Amino acid sequence: MRFLSSIHLAVLILLGAIGVGLYADLKSDELHEQNLKVQLGLERMVRLNQSLTNSVAMAVLEKNTLRAASYPTLASELDATVREVKALTQHMLLAPEMRALHDEQSALRAIESEVFALMRQAKWAEAYQVLLGGDYVMSLKLYEINSDSVVGALAIEMSNTARQHEKLRTITLFMRLAAAVLMLWAGWRYSVRLKTELAEQTRLRNAVTSAKEALEEKVQARTAELEAANRQLATLSATDGLTGLANRRRFDDYWAEEWPRALRQGTPLAVIMLDVDHFKLYNDHYGHQQGDDCLRQVGEALRATVRRAGELVARYGGEEFVVVMPGATEAQALETAEAIRAAVQGKAMPHATSAVSQVVTVSLGVAVGTPAPTDDRDGLVQAADKALYDAKHQGRNRVVLARY
Ligand code: GH3
Ligand code: MG
Ligand code: MG
Repeated sequence: MRFLSSIHLAVLILLGAIGVGLYADLKSDELHEQNLKVQLGLERMVRLNQSLTNSVAMAVLEKNTLRAASYPTLASELDATVREVKALTQHMLLAPEMRALHDEQSALRAIESEVFALMRQAKWAEAYQVLLGGDYVMSLKLYEINSDSVVGALAIEMSNTARQHEKLRTITLFMRLAAAVLMLWAGWRYSVRLKTELAEQTRLRNAVTSAKEALEEKVQARTAELEAANRQLATLSATDGLTGLANRRRFDDYWAEEWPRALRQGTPLAVIMLDVDHFKLYNDHYGHQQGDDCLRQVGEALRATVRRAGELVARYGGEEFVVVMPGATEAQALETAEAIRAAVQGKAMPHATSAVSQVVTVSLGVAVGTPAPTDDRDGLVQAADKALYDAKHQGRNRVVLARY
């Protein structure tokens, strides 16, 4: 997270700039105040010194010690001022100059006390001599020169420190600028990063979506395949392998649906049961393989004859077949049964050992009825079977209608 550390750095620099700026401001305020005090102190020193020398000079000239009555007060005031200024300038560059000024003042005060001693003895001429003598005048002059130079040194020092503080302020300005630039840079980096991450997120989301779509397509295709396989399986499980007609299971399911429907709707149902005549003999004579072929031909004949939607032709078992015709009348059922019989005979499959005909024939039992709630569900089928049995007994190769 480089942009974060940049922000941290910028904040640190900003804090540093604030700290340095605060320091420069406080320091310059403090120095300003101190310099002001020093300046005032120096001015007071010069003034007090002048007053002291004046009071001594006036006393000597007027030969009147009373003229110097204010001397002790002025002297102690001056002393206090000098101590104060010395303490203030202790750590400044002008400390040596201040010390020199102090020494010169002490020298002046020493000569003045000598003058006072002479005045007290009324030695006015000697006092006058000391006052106008070379030492005192010289010291006074030196003092004036030195006090001037101390003021000058103070001014130089003040401007020096002011320059230093100015430099510090310039540094803080640069630090603020650097912090601002760093923050801008960090912000820019952050926005670039954000954009990249957003783009990456969008890319990932799209990838996930398309993967999901591909998966869904695959699942759909697989489901369709499975459904087709299931349908095929269902067809296979409902189909008779030999003839391709519906098998017994399909018939049972169909009947379980159709009989209650007819009952509900009050519509008739027709059932035709069919059995190949002397088929055992056929097998015995032509072989089982050809028997199978024969059954396939019978199936063909049935398929060609029973064609209406909703009707069912199934292999009931062995060489027996069943036809169901929902909604058919007795006449229609009998007509269909006769058509089937004729169709099988029309196939003209030789049957050398049949007692009925020279070709393969079939017997059919027909039962037609409208189901009643009290009826047995298998009653119609049993009736058709019974009619078939009757057809066999009546000589085969015929259609018999059941009394239902
Ligand atoms: P009927 O006229 O009274 O019906 O005499 P039938 O000989 O046809 O009667 P039966 O029921 O005694 O004989 C049926 C024969 O059908 C017996 C069996 O071998 C034969 N059969 C049953 N299923 C098949 C089959 O799938 N293929 C072959 N080839 N023969 C079958
Ligand atoms: Mg049979
Ligand atoms: Mg038979």
